[in-house]
Amino acid sequence: MRAAVLYEVGQPLAVEEVELDPPRQGEVLVRIAATGVCHSDLHYIKGDLVMPLPVVLGHEAAGIVEAVGAGVQSVQPGDHVVLLFAPACGRCRYCAAGRPHLCEMRLRVRGRMPDGTSRLHARGEDLHHFTCVSSWAERAVVPESGVLRVERDLPFAVCALLGCAVTTGVGAVLNTAQVTPGSTVAVFGLGGVGLNVVQGARIAGAVTIVGVDMLEHRLDAARRFGATHTVNARRDDPVKAIQDLTQGGADYAFEVIGRAATVRQAVDCLARGGTAVAVGLPPAREELALPGPAFILNEKTLRACFYGSARLRHDIPRLLALYHAGRLMLDELVTAALPLERVNEAVAALDRGDGLRTILEMHTA
Ligand SMILES: [Zn+2]
Ligand SMILES: [Zn+2]
Repeated sequence: MRAAVLYEVGQPLAVEEVELDPPRQGEVLVRIAATGVCHSDLHYIKGDLVMPLPVVLGHEAAGIVEAVGAGVQSVQPGDHVVLLFAPACGRCRYCAAGRPHLCEMRLRVRGRMPDGTSRLHARGEDLHHFTCVSSWAERAVVPESGVLRVERDLPFAVCALLGCAVTTGVGAVLNTAQVTPGSTVAVFGLGGVGLNVVQGARIAGAVTIVGVDMLEHRLDAARRFGATHTVNARRDDPVKAIQDLTQGGADYAFEVIGRAATVRQAVDCLARGGTAVAVGLPPAREELALPGPAFILNEKTLRACFYGSARLRHDIPRLLALYHAGRLMLDELVTAALPLERVNEAVAALDRGDGLRTILEMHTA
């Protein structure tokens, strides 16, 4: 099959023939239909985050089950599935506590399948898996806990987005922060995930939603997704603008860029007692710093959010219900669709901030 392989940091991905082993016990073979291009992938390509190479990236995807290994019960060939990048064991202390997105398995599988081996090979060597998904490829072998069956009449691009951007962004609002009706919300960074924070805040009943970005086309998009106000941070000081628009500070602020400086702005723009949520993944070299006394005296909170703090098998069907009810905009997020062969173009577009979300589409006929 064809797959995009990262052999060296900072170099273009090689789209080439890759050998994929059949699924073993408890594993599922998925023919990828659509897969998103996300900032987390870009981090590894640029070397801001490090993982063992060579690797097949891609962690936001949907497709059709082609085969299942022994013991697989929840899906069968022909099922349409969303791929989940936090496979869960169902038994560890985090799974037992109802927080499967924090499952211990994620730490163990770094670059491998849960049994410690690889299903991907090229140029005579094993390739690494990425978050047990590796969807920038025509097919993927994933653990059974890494797939969720969805209705067959849904667009694959929409399903792919549920694998990361939507679940992370909306989950940050509904699960991590638990924004309440009537709240004021600020959102720093209006890319694929940030726009989902905006519409999550709208769904939660926030009355003031201030979107912050440096790109005008994203500020326009934020207004379509539910922002009541926007601030171009290239022109205006976002902290001051948010404080003005929210009568002294926001109840909640979300950082969806992954930079220490904007996490600090998210904390600074809060009202007393407010909560900032760090959603964007910063480069490995960055540390977060807080304004000592002001943080304590104003009783602020800074929380981290991984994967929307989601219970995926519970949350994704609810997100789909919101989509069917016309309250969650998903089709509107997809602004470009390219074949796998043009993955490097899609990555460059993401780096420049073009469009909202680019989807790589495979032929599924
Ligand atoms: Zn992602
Ligand atoms: Zn677990």
